[in-house]
Amino acid sequence: MSKKTVEINITGIVQGVGFRPFLFNLARNQGLKGYILNRGNAGVRIVLQGNSKGIDKFIEDIKIKRPKISFIENLDVKLVDSFEIFENLEIKKSEEGRGISLTLPPDIAICEKCLKDMRNPNLSKYHMYPFIACAVCGPRFTTVKALPYDRERSTMIEFPFCKNGNPSCIQEYSDFDNRRFHAQTFACSICGPNYKLYNKSREIIKNNSIKEILNETAKRINEGEIVAVKGIGGVHLVCKADNDTIILKLRKRKGGRRYKPFALMIPNLKIIEKYFKISNKEKELLTSFRRPIVLLERYDNFKDSIISYQVAPGLNNIGFMLPYSGIHYLLFDFIGEEPLVYTSGNPSNIPMGIKNDKIFDQLKDLADFFVLHNRTIYQRADDSVLRIHDNKIKMIRRSRGFVPEYLPLPFEVEIPGALATGPELTVTGAVLRKNRIFPTQHIGNVTHLETYDFLKEALFHMKKLLQIKDSEIKFVSCDVHPTFITTKLAKELATQFNIPLYPIQHHFSHILSLMAENKIRNDEKIIGISTDGVGYGDDGNIWGGEILLSSYNGYKRLGHLEYQPMIGGDRCTKYPARMAASIILKNLDINNSMKIFKKLNLENDLEYKDEELKALVSQFQQANKNFPSENIPLSSSTGRIFDCISYLLGASNVKTYRGEPAMRLEGLASQGNSQNVDLELTSSKKNNRYIISTSDLIIDVISLLENPKIKRQDIAAKFQKEIGITYADIATKIADKVGISKIGLTGGVAYNQMFSKTVKEKVIEKGYIFLEHNLIGPGDPGISTGQLIGALFKHQ
Ligand SMILES: [Zn+2]
Ligand SMILES: [Zn+2]
Repeated sequence: MSKKTVEINITGIVQGVGFRPFLFNLARNQGLKGYILNRGNAGVRIVLQGNSKGIDKFIEDIKIKRPKISFIENLDVKLVDSFEIFENLEIKKSEEGRGISLTLPPDIAICEKCLKDMRNPNLSKYHMYPFIACAVCGPRFTTVKALPYDRERSTMIEFPFCKNGNPSCIQEYSDFDNRRFHAQTFACSICGPNYKLYNKSREIIKNNSIKEILNETAKRINEGEIVAVKGIGGVHLVCKADNDTIILKLRKRKGGRRYKPFALMIPNLKIIEKYFKISNKEKELLTSFRRPIVLLERYDNFKDSIISYQVAPGLNNIGFMLPYSGIHYLLFDFIGEEPLVYTSGNPSNIPMGIKNDKIFDQLKDLADFFVLHNRTIYQRADDSVLRIHDNKIKMIRRSRGFVPEYLPLPFEVEIPGALATGPELTVTGAVLRKNRIFPTQHIGNVTHLETYDFLKEALFHMKKLLQIKDSEIKFVSCDVHPTFITTKLAKELATQFNIPLYPIQHHFSHILSLMAENKIRNDEKIIGISTDGVGYGDDGNIWGGEILLSSYNGYKRLGHLEYQPMIGGDRCTKYPARMAASIILKNLDINNSMKIFKKLNLENDLEYKDEELKALVSQFQQANKNFPSENIPLSSSTGRIFDCISYLLGASNVKTYRGEPAMRLEGLASQGNSQNVDLELTSSKKNNRYIISTSDLIIDVISLLENPKIKRQDIAAKFQKEIGITYADIATKIADKVGISKIGLTGGVAYNQMFSKTVKEKVIEKGYIFLEHNLIGPGDPGISTGQLIGALFKHQ
């Protein structure tokens, strides 16, 4: 039978997922000769010689048997004329190849087979060795410095394979029957990295064996100590989760982190099943190779004896994750089956250290001791956080396990590359590569210098991984806020690359990312409901409750929440009582306002008590309704109204972390029944624009509180529902008038389950198509993606 030669090019996630060894074995099974080649972002190229039947079977098998973690985007086969006769089958040394897609996968949780090897006492090189990995598991994004994906471009280059183990690592790497054949990030206890246990003075206490380290660690955790454990993309602070005193100690050490919830790690789902609702979708995400933190809702039978109330005060859900690295599993083997706090090991708002020196510096007053390894983490990646609404992912923090995956855009893009810098407080950057958007890992609050530097570094690392040349960067995009530090960064980048800068409005950015992930065509329009805390509006006011008729080219503001004064500006965000006072003063005369303040005991919830209340009132009176002004901006923010209701209902008196009052309101509402309360939001139309009256709402809630028979829980539930109904009602009215069939919900308030659910149900009930997020979060981490899309249409 005559032989033919084919060249097969495959793109997608085909590096770092055991794809080359997989191809090698398939080809070998069919007796094919030739070679397999990694081509950086251009994917994998295979040149094979053999009979037609074997080649056909090979191609068919790729699709059926490929590694689960791989993703084939395109598979192209062509016949080639070859005079060369191939004698063998080989995996060739990688070559540089440029493509538009990143072929690098995210970090992958330890696989079942490696877990089994780690617990096999007969396998001395891997027994209890936490860095065990293979071709389909282990760190990827956090270790790779550049592409193509090979050991020499990963931080594992510091650990040459052993030659005398049994079998040696070099043998395993070279043996095509071994699952570590051509795996790049594995090592063993002989040749690989290892852990040491240190005290706070950086002295080594234990380093003989992992067993000794784990024994000591487990003992000290049980005694109530807090340990810093270095893992895949950073460092965690770990301690017991069932003890109030320990959690309060951790809160104190974390710089007075009073109420912000901590994430927990659990050895298996069994131990919490009785106390938390876990849907199939949640189970699927929790156990996936991505291993994110998933927020789970508590059942009413939840007991503080399992998990201290102090872990998530006032909330009806707690974030859980399953182990994803060898060290996590081993620690549970020594401690037993109980939840442990695993919170990011960083001082508030500063990126966590990834170098041991930095970790010691940052955590010397936070951790009692340190369990650190000597493998370099190249890219920091926090744990990802999400919640599930109705089988759809609501991404809260998109980082480890998801980055560097991309969002495909549903239209053609001619531009080779572009950058966006995001908003300010919960930032990711984003890089455009043709019709794909690659958001960076979670960055955080960039008003801190170190976090700002992290944003720049993450953006440029993504650009490097994507092999984008400076000359291919065609524009930069940012928020319209004039004083954001990310706006300043974007200006600098525009100058550096000599390219145009396009600022995009915050709420429109939210809607643009929603449109792209729902594959809206570029000649389509939707009604976007964009609800959050704060975003700079076109009129200079603070927006946050917006109904925008949107296309990719622009928007028209057709509805919003009534403007409310914020006396003292940002202080109203920190102290919801101030926001409540502002709205009350706007609507009632001074005597009636003072009466209500007294009833609410409002001064008590201001930082400077009576003095602050007096100052606030006099500021308001002096302004004589002349606002917006520097001290009294106006806001249509939905977040502020949630804060205000949360405060009035006694769920929250000060915001100690972003979203807290709204989250506590959700906690309170989860115990209530909306049907027990009469409460309705009203709206009016002015200059062709719907205005939702939040003044009436606040006054109505205050009068409901006068009735001792009405439960606060019920009011909370009713409010969440009613505001959802009102948004949906107005959006459908507008959609009906302008003849549009799609209505979407985005912005941080969309994390609220009852609110989102109500909007969705109402929109669908009235016969419209509802758009929601699943890939990109509704919150501010999605802003950079929207900025790129908005800027792209301005540029074209
Ligand atoms: Zn494995
Ligand atoms: Zn080895």
